[in-house]
Amino acid sequence: MKVNTRNEKVLGKTESLCPQCLAVIPAERVAVGDAVFLDKICPEHGNFRTILWRGQPLYQEWAVERQLTKPPVCATGVDRGCPFDCGLCPRHRQHTCCVLLEVTQRCNLSCPVCFAAADSEDSEPDIRRIEEWYRMLMASGGPYNIQLSGGEPTLREDLPEIIALGRSLGFSFFQLNTNGLRLAKDYQYVRRLKEAGLSCVFLQFDGTSDAVYKKIRGKTLLEEKMAAIACCAEHELGVVLVPTLVPGVNTEDIGSILEFALEMMPVVRGVHFQPVSYFGRYPREPLDADRITIPEVLAAIERQTGGKMKITDFRPPSAENAYCSFHGNYILMDDGVLKSWAKPTGGCCQPQVESGTKKAQNFVAKRWRTAKNGKNLSAAVEGIHSSDINTDSLDAFLDRADKYSLSVSGMAFQDAWNIDLERLQECFIHVVSLDSRIIPFCAYNLTDRQGRTLYRPSKR
Ligand code: SF4
Ligand code: SF4
Repeated sequence: MKVNTRNEKVLGKTESLCPQCLAVIPAERVAVGDAVFLDKICPEHGNFRTILWRGQPLYQEWAVERQLTKPPVCATGVDRGCPFDCGLCPRHRQHTCCVLLEVTQRCNLSCPVCFAAADSEDSEPDIRRIEEWYRMLMASGGPYNIQLSGGEPTLREDLPEIIALGRSLGFSFFQLNTNGLRLAKDYQYVRRLKEAGLSCVFLQFDGTSDAVYKKIRGKTLLEEKMAAIACCAEHELGVVLVPTLVPGVNTEDIGSILEFALEMMPVVRGVHFQPVSYFGRYPREPLDADRITIPEVLAAIERQTGGKMKITDFRPPSAENAYCSFHGNYILMDDGVLKSWAKPTGGCCQPQVESGTKKAQNFVAKRWRTAKNGKNLSAAVEGIHSSDINTDSLDAFLDRADKYSLSVSGMAFQDAWNIDLERLQECFIHVVSLDSRIIPFCAYNLTDRQGRTLYRPSKR
């Protein structure tokens, strides 16, 4: 084992970026006790050390062997080097699984925490441009799972037509990434989305109290979230709750979010945690205390659920880089006992897959689609304790698993401080840029410390 000048263990070398100028610089993963840091030096802007991992399971023990599949089509060549050649380029080591289409930059919230840096002034791609994106994705190895994103995609009146168009061109899984405000109050709009073929809703859901929303989103929102979930249940649309975890704001609410998700089955199909990452303009470098790493999320899950969910229930992904995500799966039995059914492979948005992105893609499509028994919330909650579900037979058990299984997963996005280019090259969640290139999500959202972007159109 190599050691550095501080006599600390060097686990491996990689490349990263300078947060000041975004130059590619060499980096090392350095273990100090059960913590792992990314150390890097920019000849111009100095030394940077950022936490990557804190706690158990150890970083060195987390990764598993995975099957990587190169993208079948590369739209760009190797020219300036990673991460400046995205397209995808031939150096990319993993095939696309999910593709985000940013259908608008408008939003009906002004969150302090926002990937999209959304505002109300930007134009948006018209449906013909979106059709070109769909056709480009098909020619690049599609169909892929589509995530309709923004901004706030539900501000578009023609979102149902966008879904119907995608379906007519051969795409079969559509996920809506939303804050839920429109779903909470526009029943007819949700009906149109469902009829057009929407598969599931990824609902921004940061906590179970209004204090959390006030801090993260700038206003109280819990009532709207509840109404949005109820409306999805009415339309048999499966919901995945998506909390952005901000240390000191909602990291003590992790257990309550999971309990809420269990109560809201079968309409709620999963919880997908996103530890906060730092994009945009920052007056100061984020401290390690401003971050929560994957093992800390797992430890909080175990502690805050009183051991109902355990660290050992969770696995690294099989498709994207092992340090990008975790996943586990549970069935809530009719006697109220929660059973883990995690298998040794999986991925960030496919918590129960065999291996590789195709299977990952299928898993998401199957697992997070419509909650079959999601006609209304009261029925959902009553159903959990229903005595007429007999789990003595395999059929009954499978039926139970179909209605009362919950996926729990998380993805730790990378920012200019903690980015590891080896991880980025194995990214399988991609964004279509305005000029129709396929860009790995963390490269698309990356900014330097002044807020200057690499790929996302910037107003700065
Ligand atoms: S992130 Fe992937 S596509 Fe982009 S430059 Fe690096 S290897 Fe190429
Ligand atoms: S989006 Fe970022 S964290 Fe997720 S798979 Fe891609 S590189 Fe990893």
